[in-house]
Amino acid sequence: MKRMKYKFLESVLDEIDKCVKCAACHAGCPTYELSFSETLTARGKIRLAKGILEESIGLSKRVAKDFSLCLSCLNCSTVCPPGVDTLKIFTAVRSHIYDEKKEGRIESFIHEQVLPYPTRLNYLAKLTGAASLFYKMAPKMIARYFPYAPDGYARVTPPLLRSSLRSRLKEVNKPVEKRTVRRVAYFSGCMTDLAYPETGVHVVEKLNNAGVEVIFPKEQVCCGAPAYFAGDMSTARKLAMKNREAFKNLDVDAIVISCATCGSVLKHAYSQILPDDNSAKEMADKVIDFQSLLVELGEEKKFKAADNSGEKLKVTYHDPCHLKRGLGVSDAPRLILKNLPGVEFVEMENADSCCGGSGAFGLEYYDMSMDIGRAKAEAIKKSGASVVATSCPMCQLQLTDALNRQGYDIAVKHTADFIDQVMSARK
Ligand code: SF4
Ligand code: SF4
Repeated sequence: MKRMKYKFLESVLDEIDKCVKCAACHAGCPTYELSFSETLTARGKIRLAKGILEESIGLSKRVAKDFSLCLSCLNCSTVCPPGVDTLKIFTAVRSHIYDEKKEGRIESFIHEQVLPYPTRLNYLAKLTGAASLFYKMAPKMIARYFPYAPDGYARVTPPLLRSSLRSRLKEVNKPVEKRTVRRVAYFSGCMTDLAYPETGVHVVEKLNNAGVEVIFPKEQVCCGAPAYFAGDMSTARKLAMKNREAFKNLDVDAIVISCATCGSVLKHAYSQILPDDNSAKEMADKVIDFQSLLVELGEEKKFKAADNSGEKLKVTYHDPCHLKRGLGVSDAPRLILKNLPGVEFVEMENADSCCGGSGAFGLEYYDMSMDIGRAKAEAIKKSGASVVATSCPMCQLQLTDALNRQGYDIAVKHTADFIDQVMSARK
């Protein structure tokens, strides 16, 4: 076998060879369930990867499409009997595709010239926010010609015209009227910074209430997920290094996340992006989801002790793929929701199935993304809940869009915002 052309792919040959072709990964793969196409499954992609490595298959448009038609939902690696790290393989293939096709692409420009610079990213967000205002106000006849507006349907876009979390939060946030029990750093992620800043404020407030001092390093940048999942390893590396520097010398015992994807990337992808870097490894070891930290501190018991009278608000929970399968967190949010006063928790069917969001996938394959989202919206509706909580801003946006599209009046809340809503009403 010739093994010179695709060096990065060659570095994951062990993972490729682990695949026993059993097809267990077909069940639950959202893109396979819609297309029944073998090349969209992990097994199919792994076969393609082997062919690419052996140079019997080229990096054609068709192959590039097969590798982009994936939500990085981690279902395949979770159910795989020999535990193949499928995303490692997919990313390696995408990196070769990306390097061949990156010249002159707007995606590459955004990765390289915008993502590493928070001020530029903020400007781009404001521009996009202004454009989506125009899009929403445009009459249906005109809107139907816009991208992502099939049949004149206006999709829900992220609220990007607000002041960023970066401008709202101080760098050091100490607990008020309380002894400091822990000192942690907070990694917010871009969606929370630019679209849902109140979530970041609530995360810090809830931790401060629990006696936790929260450092919010302003030098932090995008975690690198858009670049990493697209195969742009050079930008992913640059971003990982910037974040490593921002978090390196802080005297903290944990790095708290409230975005499932950012958490999963910091925890798992940084070891592939910066394989020989101890600081990146230390950073990964410290990652903890904010709900898990609240439970570790016993905060749910305090929620339970509050006034529980009055009519109950029915809430269900959607497991973000990167939180449940990426970080292994599913009990903590449920424990919190079950203990909140005035709340009745109901489980929905397939709570951990992918919502179909997944960043660039939703932009590129909007119809497919909404087909997946529709099943989620129906499960939420069937649960009878009037609120669905989740712990990932990308899922939050996707669920809002999917429910809106089905015409269901069900609120979507990040868990931090829902805790704040419920507890503020009890003060
Ligand atoms: S489940 Fe794992 S071993 Fe089986 S075909 Fe899929 S990737 Fe290969
Ligand atoms: S990550 Fe998800 S969408 Fe991609 S191949 Fe695996 S199961 Fe399918």
